[in-house]
Amino acid sequence: IAFESTRVATIKSSPSMAVSVAAKAMRAKGEHVVDLSLGEPDFDTPDHIVQAAIEAMRKGLTRYTAPDGLQELRQAIVAKFKRESGLDYVMDEISIGNGAKQILFNAFLATLEPGDEVVVPAPYWVSYTDIVVLHGGIPKIVPCGVEDAFKITAERLDAAITPKTRWFLFNSPSNPTGAIYTADELRALGAVLARHPHVAIMSDEIYEHIVCGDVPFTSFVVACPELKDRTLIINGVSKAYAMTGWRLGYAAGPRELTRALNKLQSQSTTCPSSITQFAAAAALNGPQDFVTTAVAEYKARGQLVARGFSAIPGLDVRAPEGAFYLFPKCAHYIGKTAPDGARISNDTELASYLLREGKVATVPGAAFGVEPYIRLSFATSRDNLAIAIERTADALAKLR
Ligand code: PLP
Repeated sequence: IAFESTRVATIKSSPSMAVSVAAKAMRAKGEHVVDLSLGEPDFDTPDHIVQAAIEAMRKGLTRYTAPDGLQELRQAIVAKFKRESGLDYVMDEISIGNGAKQILFNAFLATLEPGDEVVVPAPYWVSYTDIVVLHGGIPKIVPCGVEDAFKITAERLDAAITPKTRWFLFNSPSNPTGAIYTADELRALGAVLARHPHVAIMSDEIYEHIVCGDVPFTSFVVACPELKDRTLIINGVSKAYAMTGWRLGYAAGPRELTRALNKLQSQSTTCPSSITQFAAAAALNGPQDFVTTAVAEYKARGQLVARGFSAIPGLDVRAPEGAFYLFPKCAHYIGKTAPDGARISNDTELASYLLREGKVATVPGAAFGVEPYIRLSFATSRDNLAIAIERTADALAKLR
């Protein structure tokens, strides 16, 4: 019996998860590995959020909710858009899911016809292209390397759009590069999109609070309000509130689209966990001092890694503006030979060498659609980061 359909055979498992599994296996053998492969906050979920979940459980609020979520949560999401971005959404324009990842999944499942194209600037978050392919779409990848400050320009976006384009999908602040689009850059992209009314925009704003440099975060809809009726903003509580395991993402967009998303939800997971929904409402409505403290720490770590990795000869580093990733270009080391005689012919081999020789787990650029780069997550302690810098420098210096 063939247990994998041709559709599932077209995609791969998440590569960043695979590196982390390899790092964990080395640890299990007693090796000291610094794992910079996973993009999740190393902090605990703030106590008032945990308490809200406990309270919900104690009160017996443990039943199915409506597919589009608890009234309390949707109200909290509407209030959040108003308070933080001045955006007016009504409850019907909100959808929730088991993580932002499920919203992306639902949005492509709900909207793509076979052969529809989705313009995605690369480097992109690892799951975008597989989710598009799984739903019959064709990712139109536009490479934007360190030379382009990792951002797509209006000209390149215009050139990538065809009559088959259904979506433009982008992420700011960016995983894996830490780049943030300025309001002016977003307006320039918006001007192109205004000329192509058949293209919808998916703006993944999940790292909005995590700003480490001087460029402030701007929501796409704030920069381009005229495109609000064809933009889906994706967001979630995972990164801002250290809630990756709770699984709650949300989106705001045109009513016809959120209705389709909610219909899908009703026939798939029914709803995210009711307990998580109460916790997420507490996160959005409650004190935001955790976010401020965590972001100050990410900022210090971002400066530490930018300084440390820039000082390693042969790495081309752009300091992160947001999120918690550094994405150095490592072309200098491709083609070199390791002390054990292995040739490093691409960034996947370089990442595997760094894990083997330096005991530092990173994700190769190939996973994000551009080469040769490595992605380092700095959502770990400054002590770990200092060790990672030293070990990476030592391991790279051994390449000939
Ligand atoms: N979007 C981006 C850019 C991400 O980096 C992630 C997680 O790594 C997600 C979406 C998904 O987040 P979640 O499903 O935990 O809400």
